[in-house]
Amino acid sequence: MLCKIIPEKCIACGLCQVYAPEIFDYDDDGLVILARDHSAHQEFIPKNEQADVLTAYRKCPVRAIEISEK
Ligand code: SF4
Repeated sequence: MLCKIIPEKCIACGLCQVYAPEIFDYDDDGLVILARDHSAHQEFIPKNEQADVLTAYRKCPVRAIEISEK
């Protein structure tokens, strides 16, 4: 699974880190970044973390998280 983030859409609600704290973090303005690589906008998600990412994807109110099967 490939996970992409779109910080330009993010409204800094903080929900994604509640559901997938190992994947999502925030910059100084509260906008989404990837926890493991702050400069990246996409990341391959290992199987054991995919359920959490799916939940975060579904909960994001502005679709600033995208996922695809790759
Ligand atoms: S759930 Fe969406 S809007 Fe909320 S902080 Fe995460 S990426 Fe941003």
